[in-house]
Amino acid sequence: MSKRKTISDYIESLLKGEITNRCPICGKFEGTTDKFTNHHINFDNSISEYWNLIRICWDCHEDINKYHADGKRLRKIKQIKKDLFRRFIGDASYQVLLMSNHYKVTSTLPCLAMSLLNLELIKINLSNPMHVGSADHPTITDFSITIKGREFIQHMNINEKVTDIPR
Ligand SMILES: [Zn+2]
Repeated sequence: MSKRKTISDYIESLLKGEITNRCPICGKFEGTTDKFTNHHINFDNSISEYWNLIRICWDCHEDINKYHADGKRLRKIKQIKKDLFRRFIGDASYQVLLMSNHYKVTSTLPCLAMSLLNLELIKINLSNPMHVGSADHPTITDFSITIKGREFIQHMNINEKVTDIPR
């Protein structure tokens, strides 16, 4: 097995935030004394990226490790992770990710792009192309998908269809 890679504070905060104190598999609450663990979904400790990590209780962690080769369990975990991400980021931002992948570039309000920007899944393509508003503040901006974003979409098995909007 390759070398274990440390999980960044930012990713750890996302992992904690998305489960809202409950094990996403069994529903048990995370206590102050019995902390949960960050499980590497594909069992490769050298890949400590957000998409490969899920915070779960120790009982569920033990169960997963015991049935390491069970494809059904792996598919279930991957589906749970995808659902957590979607709920955590919000449906509008999820659509921004889908659209920036589908169209290469998409325009949106910066507030819907912030979490995706922090995860480096999209980047600013052209800021403020419309100069909306009276003050010098960020408004509707063009965002494009990053290489990391494309890989993320593959790893997370994000495959929802984007409705084609005529241009
Ligand atoms: Zn659990």
